[in-house]
Parts: sequence; C-alpha cells; structure tokens
Amino acid sequence: MKRVKEAVGCLSICLLVSGCGETDTLAIADEKNLHLEVAYGEEFSYTPESLGISANDMEKISYNEIDLNALGTQKIIYQYNDQELTVEVTIVDKEPPVMSAQDITISEQELNAIDSYMQISAVDNYDGDISSSVTCDPIDVSSITAPTVLTRVCSVKDSSGNEAQTTVQINVEESSERIEVYASGVVNGLTVEPHIVENPDSITVMVNKFNALPDDYAPSDLVDIGGGYQLRQEAAVQYAAMKAQADADGIVLNVLSAYRTKSYQEGLFWNYVNTQGEEYAAVYSAVPRRSEHELGLAIDVGDNYYLDENLDHTATGIWLNENAAKYGFIMRYPEDKVLTTQYGFEAWHYRYVGAELAMKLKESNLTLEEYYQVESMEDGNSYRFY
Ligand SMILES: [Zn+2]
Repeated sequence: MKRVKEAVGCLSICLLVSGCGETDTLAIADEKNLHLEVAYGEEFSYTPESLGISANDMEKISYNEIDLNALGTQKIIYQYNDQELTVEVTIVDKEPPVMSAQDITISEQELNAIDSYMQISAVDNYDGDISSSVTCDPIDVSSITAPTVLTRVCSVKDSSGNEAQTTVQINVEESSERIEVYASGVVNGLTVEPHIVENPDSITVMVNKFNALPDDYAPSDLVDIGGGYQLRQEAAVQYAAMKAQADADGIVLNVLSAYRTKSYQEGLFWNYVNTQGEEYAAVYSAVPRRSEHELGLAIDVGDNYYLDENLDHTATGIWLNENAAKYGFIMRYPEDKVLTTQYGFEAWHYRYVGAELAMKLKESNLTLEEYYQVESMEDGNSYRFY
C-alpha cells in the first residue's frame, strides 16, 4: 500500500497524511510562466512570488540567478526540499536601432566619394554603436546633373535582426573646380576646392590636397620640443621618447621643422611658387591649411641641417624606418606612393598618428589615403578622395 502511494505522488500522500490545505508542494499558479519571453532591457523579477510559485514555506524556496543582459534562453531552477521547478526565460531584443542622420550639402566632385560624406549614426539598445553597419541605397553618380537634390534611404540591422531605416537628403551643388593635373600626375592643389575636415583635433586626421583644416583652426596643446620647435602634446611626448632611444642607439636625429602657423605656411608655399614655380610647389609644398605641419603633428628630420632626399639610405633614415612607427610616426610621403599622397618623395617628413595606426600602416604598407579609403571612419572626419 505504501509503495502505491508513493507512485501516485506527493499530492496524494499529502491528502492522505494531512489533508488538502496542508499540501507542501512546490507549485506554479500559471503553467504559462514555465516558459517566459522577456524583452531585453525590460524590468523583470523572477522571485517565486512574481512568477506565482508557491510552497508552504516561501522562505525555503531557493533558485539560481540568470543574466538579464544576455540574449537567449536561460533556466531558473526553483528548489524546495527535494522538489524542483524549472522556468525557462528567453530574453529577446525586439527594439530596432535608433538612427540619426543629417542632410548634407556636397559638390559634384564629392559625389564620387558620397559614402564617406554620409553622416549617419545608429545606436542599438543591445549592440551599442553600430554606425559602421549602416548601408545606403546605391547612387548612380553618372546620371546626376548638379545642382540637384537627392534622397537616399539608409538602413541598419542589429544583431537580432531588428531593422531601422532613415532617409537622407543630399543637396548636390555645382562646383567651379577645374582640377589642374601636371604630366607627372601630380595635382595643383590651388585648383582644388578641398573638403574641410570636421575634427581637426583628431590625432589621426588626414589633411592633404583634398582635405583641409578649418580656416580658424590652431592646435591648443602645443608644447616645446627644443630648438624653438613645437608639436602637440602627445606627439611631443612620443618624439622625446623616440629621440632618447635614437641618442641611446648613437643615431643623430635633428628636427628641421615642426608646427607651422597658417601664416608661416602661407609664406613658405608662396615663396616656393615664386622661386620654383607652381608645379614644383605642388610636388613639395602644401597650400596653406593643407599642411600637416599646421596640425602640429608633423616633423621634418635629418642627420644634418638640410632636407636630405637620401635620408632613407643614412643610418638615421634606416633607424627611423625601423623604429619610428613604434613611437607613432610614419614616413608620410614614400617614394612609391607619389600619385597616392600627391606629394613628391620626402624622406624627411614624418607624421605622428599614434602607435596603433602607425604600426598598422607600416605592416600593411599603406598611406593614410589608402587606409581611409578602405577603413570606416572613426575619427569624426569625413574625407574626400582624389
Ligand atoms: Zn614636412
């Protein structure tokens, strides 16, 4: 008789032993609560009381914790004496990302690099910033005649597949720009209407013939690096470290130029134009507001006191080639990249971009231009490419 009772289960035992009101069973009021779907980020309590789980002595119900910040299904096992009740909780993200987009105005020429000008951010409640995953409808640039207004639909999906969409208006303006290109393939920067970078303070900002500094920009954290030269704080610290290592290695490292004001660059550039001609200036000098020296992140160096195009064959040049990237400096205008950088080979010109990017560029043998053309923009700037 006893064996039979056990097979029937606790409830019948209890009924027989102590009557209905006294059954000491771990029970759930609503079976639906055994499988719950909870929206990510929503407040959710899984105390026994909240889920309608009961027993005579509520205090004695124990259960494991689950991670409410993890998507997917997790089990909560409620234990009471030797009884168990398993509740499956599935946390799902049903909220689409939030997109914000700015309407933009660009010139006809800039249309060729339209994707780099799109200013769209997307933030997801679960994935965080997913701006780099935004895609926009393709645009057939060849069929567009400026001035015109285009509408572009852009969208993004979060990792749970929730999609958001936004529409961007693009005002395309006619441009008076007629770029002059010399037989060597080098562009006359004076004939370019450059894009103005949005975040000139970024250590990794790209300034070149097509991307210029805002007219009123000057770095605010310049410090002396000796010899009457200045660099921005971070570049100065790294230069000092590099210089100390060069000294320790018996390498002569002289600074020949560093930060230049806009007016200094103006004098320099027009002096090149007046003495050597516009073509020579286009190869070796930057139009004011388009020089890396105006960033306070570039140095011209040598083992002597002149700009030496054979520097890369000297002990100093070989040492720099080996070590500069570790300190965040890259040779910015290599011999085999003239048409990419649009400047002649400058063995002496080193640009500070931070060690992380410098090592990447060195390992991949890419110029800043090539890097930004393939990598998504993360330094707050959009860029125009030639
Ligand atoms: Zn330079």
